Amino acid sequence: MTIDHSSLFIGGQWVTPSSPHRIEVRSASTEERIGSVPEGAPADVDAAVTAARSAFDDPHGWSRWPAHRRAEILDRFADEYDKRGEEILYAISQQNGMPIAIARQLEATFPPTLLRYYANLIRSQPVEELREGLFVKSTIVRRQPIGVVAAIIPWNVPQTLTMTKLAPALAAGCTIVIKPSPETVLDAFLLARAAEAAGIPDGVVSIVPGGRELGAYLVSHPGIDKVAFTGSTAGGQAVAQACAGLLRPVTLELGGKSAAVILDDADLDLGNVGQSLFAATLANNGQVCFLGTRVLAPRSRYTEVVDTFAALIEGAPVGDALDESTLIGPMASSIQRDRVAHYIDLGSREGARVVVGGTGRPDGIDRGWFVKPTLFADIDNTATVSREEIFGPVLSVIAYDGDDDAIRIANDSDFGLGGSVWSTDSDRALSVASGIQSGTIGINGYLPEPTAPFGGIKASGLGREFGPEGLAAYQQLKSIYQFA
Ligand code: NAD
Repeated sequence: MTIDHSSLFIGGQWVTPSSPHRIEVRSASTEERIGSVPEGAPADVDAAVTAARSAFDDPHGWSRWPAHRRAEILDRFADEYDKRGEEILYAISQQNGMPIAIARQLEATFPPTLLRYYANLIRSQPVEELREGLFVKSTIVRRQPIGVVAAIIPWNVPQTLTMTKLAPALAAGCTIVIKPSPETVLDAFLLARAAEAAGIPDGVVSIVPGGRELGAYLVSHPGIDKVAFTGSTAGGQAVAQACAGLLRPVTLELGGKSAAVILDDADLDLGNVGQSLFAATLANNGQVCFLGTRVLAPRSRYTEVVDTFAALIEGAPVGDALDESTLIGPMASSIQRDRVAHYIDLGSREGARVVVGGTGRPDGIDRGWFVKPTLFADIDNTATVSREEIFGPVLSVIAYDGDDDAIRIANDSDFGLGGSVWSTDSDRALSVASGIQSGTIGINGYLPEPTAPFGGIKASGLGREFGPEGLAAYQQLKSIYQFA
């Protein structure tokens, strides 16, 4: 069955698109056409920003509502998302190849959890505080919504990465224009249905699908007050440049090349740690920004670490993303498949030993954008495949000598987003984790936690999402000095 949408969700209404162009969507697993949506044009962005602007500026509108009223709507939005959960998962898995079992852990849980989390946060967060002054009698310090938000979303975990922006922006009282990636638009239309059913007022949410030119148009639009971007480092640099010229606040969640540091006392029994190791290094076919794709192994246990990861990869069923038993699906697009295949080829040309996988299609799979999950050994941290983000199921095992050397290699990267430390000694693991330069890191596992700030340093980005810090990114502080 194919799904073809004819309208765009702009300002809370389903409207006729201004351009006849359409985005065709194919299944990553079968390459078959599964649907289409209208492609947004600059005139649609103009309409969305105008609607968002007037909803934001309405003196009785969303941005002025008491927090508890917005919180009610966020809770309802979460319920409406849950009602469409299966349909959303199905759409995502088909489009970007995320195995449905993994989509259930990520895309079914994070988005409604974030909506409910931010609903609760604004119920308890004081809107203002009174500070006794040194020069004035007192100051009211008030949190206000930052304004109209432009949110640019990648295709890899589309609903969670939409909600890391949408939930706190709505909670703060902002209005928002979302631009999903062309690869993942069918789920975005289901999200629009959930927003509509939740009773979000007109103008507050718009979804305009399109490519990077449309994204660039939205980011620089004069009606926008704040930009939130998740995507590649190159895309983030372009967005940052546009925002710098406009002095426009921007949050950037970009690429990564994190380290999974296996200490010499780590438990490597896959029965105990297999699921956690997989989630931290290979989840979503390697198409997650925070994965520890550089596995740092103590030289004394190098062979054992290589064998462990080889068994982990060989034990992960590769297949159609909609098959419940699949743990590694296809890449999201033919472009992404070609990119990952290029790195797999490059790794062997750079002298790495291919322990598992290599070039070509996985055996027995004759369609879909698949690569062979690949493990490189006997490689160091200077190889291109150890330095650049591959964004596929490709791991390099790099040897180190001692904890300080492990920290040195982990930090020898342009990126600083995630990573993990594996040890049976929690104090030692904490000490190594503390030495690693990254915005987040896990001990004996990795999963972003909604209550704690998530984000990167160095080329991995600017700013934080999740937690109260993620809400603060959509608020500005106003001081009202009181003299009498
Ligand atoms: P991408 O940069 O090509 O595109 C991401 C989004 O930005 C898309 O919607 C695209 O249309 C838009 N875009 C691209 N250039 C733009 C520009 N100049 N102006 C405005 N919009 C623009 O990235 P992708 O290939 O879709 O996603 C994969 C990348 O995203 C990886 O590098 C990955 O690490 C990163 N990512 C980061 C995080 C994080 O939280 N740090 C999370 C997921 C993905």
